[in-house]
Amino acid sequence: MSAADPLVIICPSCATANRVPPEKLGSGGKCGRCGSALFDGHPVTLGSANFDAHLMRSDIPLLVDFWATWCGPCRQMAPAFEAAARQLEPQVRLGKLDTEAEQAIAARYGIRSIPTLILFRGGKELARQSGAMPANAIIQWAQRAI
Ligand code: ZN
Repeated sequence: MSAADPLVIICPSCATANRVPPEKLGSGGKCGRCGSALFDGHPVTLGSANFDAHLMRSDIPLLVDFWATWCGPCRQMAPAFEAAARQLEPQVRLGKLDTEAEQAIAARYGIRSIPTLILFRGGKELARQSGAMPANAIIQWAQRAI
């Protein structure tokens, strides 16, 4: 891929694939279909409707927080994951997957303990980490794995 090739970025709202020149990634682009900001500093809520688009079609890595509402450590880590989204975007897309609501996706990755973070690129798992982490640790772990 040459430096001028546009990157496919999946809209966090409608899951449409947008083509964005790499040099414009950080400059507040909007979705060509729904007009939402392509990056808003918040993790995307992932589910069966949009998981595969973010996993398979996006040209940037996807960092997923597998969590559940009843999980205390998951709720404790939520602000750290939000902070990591603000730091890692637009190099990485961050998303949250509720393992209770989306059991089929959680089962696909054999999620046994939560929270578990998995970093994907091009549909492939690059790294996995279980247990709550502070924001700095999430950011450093993701940047090392990319
Ligand atoms: Zn959109």
